[in-house]
Amino acid sequence: MRRIVLLMVFVVFTTGMNAQRVLTPLEKSGFTKLTTHQEMMDFIRELEEGHAKFEVKTIANTVQGREIPVLEFSSSVFGQDTSKLMVLLFAQQHGNEPSGKEGALMLVSKLASGEHGWLLDYLDIAIIPMMNPDGNEVDRRRNGNGADLNRSHLVMDQPETIGLHKYFNENLFHVSMDVHEYSPFSSDWMDIGFRKNSDVTAGRLTNINTPQSFRDISDSKYLPFLKEFIQIAGYTYSEYTPGGPPEAEYIRHSTYDINDGRQSIGSLGTLSFIQEGMNGKDSISNIERRAKSQMTGMQAYLTWMSDNAQKIKPMVEAERENIRNGYPEKVAIQMEHRSDGRVLDMPVLSLKSGKDTVITVKNYRPVVASIFDVKKPVGYLVPVERKDLIEWTERHGMITTKYNPSPTHKIEEYTITAIDSIDFEGDIVINPSYTVSEMSSGNLKGAYLFIPTKQLAGNVIVQALEPKSTIGLATYKKFEDLVKKGEKYPVLRLLY
Ligand SMILES: [Zn+2]
Repeated sequence: MRRIVLLMVFVVFTTGMNAQRVLTPLEKSGFTKLTTHQEMMDFIRELEEGHAKFEVKTIANTVQGREIPVLEFSSSVFGQDTSKLMVLLFAQQHGNEPSGKEGALMLVSKLASGEHGWLLDYLDIAIIPMMNPDGNEVDRRRNGNGADLNRSHLVMDQPETIGLHKYFNENLFHVSMDVHEYSPFSSDWMDIGFRKNSDVTAGRLTNINTPQSFRDISDSKYLPFLKEFIQIAGYTYSEYTPGGPPEAEYIRHSTYDINDGRQSIGSLGTLSFIQEGMNGKDSISNIERRAKSQMTGMQAYLTWMSDNAQKIKPMVEAERENIRNGYPEKVAIQMEHRSDGRVLDMPVLSLKSGKDTVITVKNYRPVVASIFDVKKPVGYLVPVERKDLIEWTERHGMITTKYNPSPTHKIEEYTITAIDSIDFEGDIVINPSYTVSEMSSGNLKGAYLFIPTKQLAGNVIVQALEPKSTIGLATYKKFEDLVKKGEKYPVLRLLY
């Protein structure tokens, strides 16, 4: 049981070497004060002065001008040794969810002092503790523009997420984890007499256009490992299950949308996860346990990746090769959460007895299934006058070329005939109908940009640009003018 030995190594190091590492601002305050952006920057400088071996880079500046640092740990030159698994970890996209940041800073302090050095035999590790410094400063979910960063990864209109994806594209991390908090104190749960009470929850990819192999290995290997690791360390774990309260509404696993940190990066052929710790009654309450349990989840993530690096790296690279070769050939653009007959035994706290218990949830929908597929075209043609769409492709780092017409090209144009609506995880979004006509490429020269689907973002491109996609660009305010009843959809499909 190598994992158990590794955990014991963690425990021994954690208890034995504290004196040698630089304490985080939260630790220095005796767990009474959350770390500000300036304190984090000072802390990183203090670590650097201790001649710790890591590199600091800035991935972006926030709306209000604050730097977002990433710390890169490597036993050689970060990103240069092709035998290493490239690991990304980022926290606090939501400014009022501080425990991920505090846990990440504690982990950074340990790595910088040489603790867990064996991880770097197999991994190059990049850690972004504070994705939303503007929100952090005022204990607010949203960024300086009032935007929810974790809903902006598809439209890509915020500096924080633009910077993250640029950094991702430069390094093509094989694995990624996005760290958040969940709130167990909502009144609709309290009304039924229970609330969630796990220190750490985690979820995997749910969008069914992501590789099945990733979802399988997450279910069969990573999540069970994480659970055991967390429990051995004395914390509680359950799988990430939004929705509810039970039976009033269905319980599912995470959204199939691709606008969040987990799934936007996962849709690029990355083995990707979300971890959520438990929010306090306010941001500071119980922060020592919250920060330490989040850090434990991060240690589990790094340990498992190190243990399995030689399996995960070729697996990710093979799946990416598939995506670049145009697979899957069909892409689901409308999906739903379905029951498979199973019930969910859900760990909760009974408010009556004050004790942890388990409730059985019958209205449980763990399966995501397609309700509408499209055949992936060779690519899409975007009118060059649509500067907003051109800029969108650039922010995603998509491969594009000027469109060169050929008489052999088969091109499809949609005409929107009606705009109905459809349920999307409890929200209502547009569901256009269209007719399809074929057109010749003759007079398109110079007027269109070609976006091939044979690229890493191929599945993102289809889900973003198909007008019937429940998670497509046209469902966002910024791009709602793409779909107008009685008009032609401006983006064309190039079939061959
Ligand atoms: Zn969050």
